Amino acid sequence: MPVYLDFNATTPVEPLALEAMLPFLRDVERSGNPSSAHAYGKVAEEAVARARAQVAALIGARPEEVVFTSCATESINLAVKGIAFARRGEGRRHLVRSAVEHPAAAEACAYLAREHGFEVTVVPVERDGRVAPDRVLAAVREDTALVTLIHAQNETGALQPLAQIGAALRARGVPFHVDASQSAGKVPVQVEALRCDALSIAGHKLYAPKGVGALYVGAGLQLHPLLHGAPYEGGRRGGTANVPSAVAMGVSCELAAASLARGEPERQRALRDDLHRRLEAGAGVTLNGPREERLPNTLNVSFPGVSGNRLLEAAPEIAASTGSACHAGIDEPSGVLTAMGLPPEVALGAVRLSLGRSTAEKEIDLAATALVAAWKRLSP
Ligand code: PLP
Repeated sequence: MPVYLDFNATTPVEPLALEAMLPFLRDVERSGNPSSAHAYGKVAEEAVARARAQVAALIGARPEEVVFTSCATESINLAVKGIAFARRGEGRRHLVRSAVEHPAAAEACAYLAREHGFEVTVVPVERDGRVAPDRVLAAVREDTALVTLIHAQNETGALQPLAQIGAALRARGVPFHVDASQSAGKVPVQVEALRCDALSIAGHKLYAPKGVGALYVGAGLQLHPLLHGAPYEGGRRGGTANVPSAVAMGVSCELAAASLARGEPERQRALRDDLHRRLEAGAGVTLNGPREERLPNTLNVSFPGVSGNRLLEAAPEIAASTGSACHAGIDEPSGVLTAMGLPPEVALGAVRLSLGRSTAEKEIDLAATALVAAWKRLSP
């Protein structure tokens, strides 16, 4: 198999997370419904409660502020639509987002505009892919129901200056949702430091299985549920909890905290910067995204004179992508890169390389050699 450098698309499941979830798939004693009053229900309920506390601990929240969902897309939809629907009664029909949101947030806002009469202000980003806090704050109006911003951009890894924005929004009483799907587990994410009211996480971006996510909902935040049903998750989401996946996500959050503490981000940053230097020297790549304020595992570079898709086809030794997984194989410039002001021909040459916990020095060596050789073969 090729060297995997697409950890921003998804991560493998940590063996300890898998081990923790298996008994809840396999054992009759652990197969109860967490809402049942009998002993089987209690075992499941306690397991979900433990998992909720583990997720909460990673982001500095209280367990009762964590809602389990099926994915980050659901978390984001619940936050954006749920807050918008809760606030429109007060005449608040305006939303603010950046130009580099994931489609989950951008499309949720577009839906609210199209079907429910909300108005959306899209705040442009600077050349390095970051929003300027004063531009976000200038977009806020008396009738703003919500500001939603991505923490770490999935294509470029750009880390947005959210703490400053969050503090100003809090002072003005405007709810603030953060999409932390890419940042949680890769850099410290603390809800109080960001001053956010809601925050979305994806299980499968931090070594838990696909099909589970979480939404932090700060105490006092009004939110309409999207899945109406039994009053689970504090009345914020109907549907019986996915016990095995919640258990795995809890363990993966604990492992993420341990990995941050032992310096894993610094290890990945060193490998990534080595890869960057070799691609600069061998192929003259240019960096897309900020040099410093960036996820330590992410490198988005443009190769001169070739298309990123063609380049990856010509380098089968590695598995990476030209942007987000949702746009795989499309030979169109990435909307995120064009929003940063990159000319289409430079955006078309972009490749996103994202490292993970298993990435080793020899894989970086192989990837650099394969990409430089493929670029030389394709260059006119
Ligand atoms: N937000 C960001 C920043 C992402 O990178 C992703 C996944 O690529 C999502 C949201 C959506 O995650 P999921 O597809 O797991 O719902």
